[in-house]
Amino acid sequence: MHRKTEACINLEAIRANFALACSLAPQSKTIAVIKADAYGHGMLRVAEALQDVAPAFAVATVDEALELRRAGIDNALLVLQGVTTSAACKMAASRHLTLVVHSLDQVENLLAARVSVPVWLKLDSGMHRLGLTPGDFAKAYKRLEAAGIEVQVACTHFAGADDPDSGTTQQQLEFFKAATSEFDLPRSIANSAGILAWPKSHAEWNRPGYMLYGCSPFLVDVATARPLQAAMTLRSEIIAIRAVPTGESVGYSARWTAQRPSIIGTVAIGYADGYPRHAPNGTPTLVNGKPAPLAGTVSMDAITVDLTEHDDAAVGDIVELWGTGIAVNEVAAAAGTIGYQLLTGVSSRVPRIYS
Ligand SMILES: *Cc1c(COP(=O)(O)O)cnc(C)c1O
Repeated sequence: MHRKTEACINLEAIRANFALACSLAPQSKTIAVIKADAYGHGMLRVAEALQDVAPAFAVATVDEALELRRAGIDNALLVLQGVTTSAACKMAASRHLTLVVHSLDQVENLLAARVSVPVWLKLDSGMHRLGLTPGDFAKAYKRLEAAGIEVQVACTHFAGADDPDSGTTQQQLEFFKAATSEFDLPRSIANSAGILAWPKSHAEWNRPGYMLYGCSPFLVDVATARPLQAAMTLRSEIIAIRAVPTGESVGYSARWTAQRPSIIGTVAIGYADGYPRHAPNGTPTLVNGKPAPLAGTVSMDAITVDLTEHDDAAVGDIVELWGTGIAVNEVAAAAGTIGYQLLTGVSSRVPRIYS
């Protein structure tokens, strides 16, 4: 590569974060969520790094699961959104996938396909995005059982577990327990936030995603999340430096104006790489490990940062956008989004470098 813009991925950090998820819930099995290209970290590399310790992986789509199978990953694979056609059910069966079933339509598709696929049956416990009502859950369970389809797990998903004081999470837990108590099924409830802050949500299977990549799902400090190690460091370099006199503006729409004689560095990363277009002036970056706040609108291929406080910054110096020095959550908060979006949005133009 001729441009020093890269996402450095620390696979050992991901293994350590997986081990932390397991140790926080020693009674549970841990299914590593590696959908969306492992939250931007590279699904195949992450799967290879975890395949000897993770009993199963979860992805969102059958296509993601097929890519893992093609790469020779033979762990159990759970498709979190399930499928919408009988043809996809047949494909899932032929590749030994496990399907989440969250609607009666999916039950009918599966029965029409006349194949045997293990199923995780999903209850809507209050998020109202995917999942069956308690009545439909019972209907689906009976239909599948009668057809000889193995229902392996009863599952549900939290809407607000990232708020450690969330009342709705407590309600969801109670609703799920009540609705599934008549079934003798293993359960799966917890995402990263559940593992870290809601011990009551730990069940036979936990489903961590974001925490595997070293990020906390919480806006507040939560002690269990402190040992997480950031797995991706997004880096670039300074490609130009200029002096900007007081009163002159920098970048599109002149959104930053020098209040003093200033030094501005231009960095080879922009929104086409996944750096958030909405990051405002002052969003943190690090140049040679020292703060260099964003100064001016993010452009497609470049950003500009204030180097006035730096004595020795030069073209070629390394810039960290997020990672071990700046939490991705901090950049996300400045840009009005969440770290999940930033990690999954790092574009294909940015090479992933593994260590
Ligand atoms: C993405 C996803 C997860 C992982 O959530 P994190 O907040 O990243 O831990 C767990 N369960 C389901 C159903 C998901 O879609």
